Amino acid sequence: MRKKIVAGNWKMNKSPVEAVEFARSIKDSVKGSEAEAVFCTPFVCLGPVMDELKGSGIAVGAQNMHFEDSGAFTGEISAPMLKAMGVPFVIVGHSERRQYFGETDESVNLKAKKALVHGLTPIICLGETLEQRKQGITTDLVRLQTRIAMSGIEKADAKKVVIAYEPIWAIGTGVTATDAQAEEACGDVRRVLAEIYDNDTAETIRIQYGGSVTVDNAKGLFAMPNIDGGLVGGASLKPDFGVIVNA
Ligand code: PEP
Repeated sequence: MRKKIVAGNWKMNKSPVEAVEFARSIKDSVKGSEAEAVFCTPFVCLGPVMDELKGSGIAVGAQNMHFEDSGAFTGEISAPMLKAMGVPFVIVGHSERRQYFGETDESVNLKAKKALVHGLTPIICLGETLEQRKQGITTDLVRLQTRIAMSGIEKADAKKVVIAYEPIWAIGTGVTATDAQAEEACGDVRRVLAEIYDNDTAETIRIQYGGSVTVDNAKGLFAMPNIDGGLVGGASLKPDFGVIVNA
């Protein structure tokens, strides 16, 4: 039985002081949920928020990392640095990073592999544009993105990965995939994972849906058989995020 996982992606919002205040204000409504909860904060907030969340069972995650351990990569943060801080999760390949920072399926794969080497759990994001959906290539695309993201990852490590299916047209738009659309794509991801590895591995890997998840639609989405929780942007910064985690 897969444990559901709901991660909030705070994006580039909140100073460390604001982040701690917000984490304090919502942690009681989040902790104790049957689902695993993760707050993916800006880098500078990770330490203070982690301190605030101590003992709550709520984890923190970074929103990005570099695929090298160290070196001349000004402004970047590496997996060993996150590991040394005690950060357990890291989002890789978010569509905003693909769109604005040139990330590709190949760099996402390098990041996922490096995260695993250092004992971090990568939350690997993938999903189609509206144009690609209209062209009827959603299944082909998510299959390919999954294959490239998982390339070179052995079965034992694959089981630790979280994949977030996030249709780009649904991110931050207020337009949510229907339960059926989200389930179909998450099912596609699971089917290709079974082809790459085996049924047991595919059934172990957690697959989230992301894209305008709210308190109103979370329950329906998270009840779908292939959807193991969500990656939540805008609504993770609202006081009732706990309602989504408990959905
Ligand atoms: C996201 O940032 O991954 C996301 C899904 O954002 P939103 O929930 O705001 O659509």
